[in-house]
Amino acid sequence: MDYQLNSIFRKTIFQTLFFQLFWGLWAQGQVQEIIFLQLNDTYEIAPLANGKVGGMARVATVYQQLKAQNPHTYMIHAGDFLNPSVIGTLRYENQDIKGRQMIEVMNQMGMQYVGLGNHEFDLKPAELQARLNESSFVWIGSNVRQKADNQAFAKIKNGTREPLPTYQILRIGQLRVGLLGLILPIEQRAYVQTQDAVQTAQNLCQQLADSTDFILAITHQSIAEDRQLAQAIPAIRLIMGGHEHEAHAETVKQTLIRKADANAKTVYIHYLQYDTQTQNLTIRSELKTIDDHIAEDPQTAQVVTKWLKIAENSLRQQGFEPSEEVMNTNVPLDGLEATVRNDTSNLTKLLAAAVFSAYPTAQAAIYNSGSIRIDDKVVGRLTQYDILRILPFGGGIWLVEMKGNLLQKILTVGSKNQGTGGFLHTQNLTYGAAKSQWQFKNQKIKAKKYYRIAINEFLLSGKEANLDFLNEKNPDLKVLHKPAPDNLQDTRADIRKVFLEYLKSRK
Ligand SMILES: [Zn+2]
Repeated sequence: MDYQLNSIFRKTIFQTLFFQLFWGLWAQGQVQEIIFLQLNDTYEIAPLANGKVGGMARVATVYQQLKAQNPHTYMIHAGDFLNPSVIGTLRYENQDIKGRQMIEVMNQMGMQYVGLGNHEFDLKPAELQARLNESSFVWIGSNVRQKADNQAFAKIKNGTREPLPTYQILRIGQLRVGLLGLILPIEQRAYVQTQDAVQTAQNLCQQLADSTDFILAITHQSIAEDRQLAQAIPAIRLIMGGHEHEAHAETVKQTLIRKADANAKTVYIHYLQYDTQTQNLTIRSELKTIDDHIAEDPQTAQVVTKWLKIAENSLRQQGFEPSEEVMNTNVPLDGLEATVRNDTSNLTKLLAAAVFSAYPTAQAAIYNSGSIRIDDKVVGRLTQYDILRILPFGGGIWLVEMKGNLLQKILTVGSKNQGTGGFLHTQNLTYGAAKSQWQFKNQKIKAKKYYRIAINEFLLSGKEANLDFLNEKNPDLKVLHKPAPDNLQDTRADIRKVFLEYLKSRK
């Protein structure tokens, strides 16, 4: 009895082991693993926060390590990398840099596939064209076209147009992975048109159903738009997105939505396993922090250093000392576009106070939210370079005297400009909700009285949205002080120097 039981037991064990071993081997042959390394919203090529956080040369190292582990590793970028940046505002070889530094770094890192972000279209058509031509990676533009001719944007190499593909199919052995590149509606530029992302993706997914095993999307749109996409098209199994600048991870039906933090503070690593027998796809996503524990890839670091030197020389000539510390803050200063173009923040208030401080005789101050371009939060030890990241454009602070009725009109338009760079920030001017009009120090603005206002130069150019009447020729306005643009001694010639001076005075 004992013996029999023992024998049956042993037989079962043997069968189980045998079965597992062979099934395991057989099944293993069918499972294909691929890895995606995801970046999104990177404006800086070098590490931030005193060298501790981010840095493209460190991301390059992570990529190489993953590739050593699995040759089927792809690096992708989900858009927003050409603008804004401090380096991008400078000139090199008699041309505006405008994202050229980022393309050079991404080429060196071995970037493979990118989607377009809204900030790519901050560039003028010729600037974007130059960046496309310089890039050695593939831009996927599923729902974006040139407005003039309804054609795809293209790289132009040796006079030949190479249109950006609307999708890609990656082939790894038997496996075929569809890759889309979707962007949110673009309105800020007349040379680009976008098609509805969900509709476009639906058409492409239908088209690719037979020629792919599964489909992934690189997107640059709001998290709400990503949710809609996932809801509408379960065939898209992973959305590698961007635009919010803060990490996101959620699942809608069977679709994962993942966004990493801006400026490569983190990257996403997606491990995909696809069983070609069962057609089962599993995805494990890991948010990886990029910091000074990761060594820099020497070749990428070399390209980064080259551009940092170019920037440093140029900024020194303008009277800045990029690495000098200006403040240390535990509270993040909020310069996110979604914040500063719609509301006040600790940063917008600080800058309003600085603009106001430029003239002791000023009664109030106004500047446009479009002056703040960092589209990020900054915290910790801030250097002059960080202030330049916040305010990449110079331009002076002027003192003007204007009639109350003009002041009221400007502020009313500023409110209506909410959501754009023409939304205004102020000091000593507040909106009195009860009386539904703007007030000066909680008093009614008197139509015929004159007010002395510190205001940034750009606003007086008449170029701000709906504020064309705000210019030197307006009869209700008189310029009291206008600093000479090239006067390095007068801090008021540059809003960034005004801000630096103000922060220094608060120390
Ligand atoms: Zn964006």
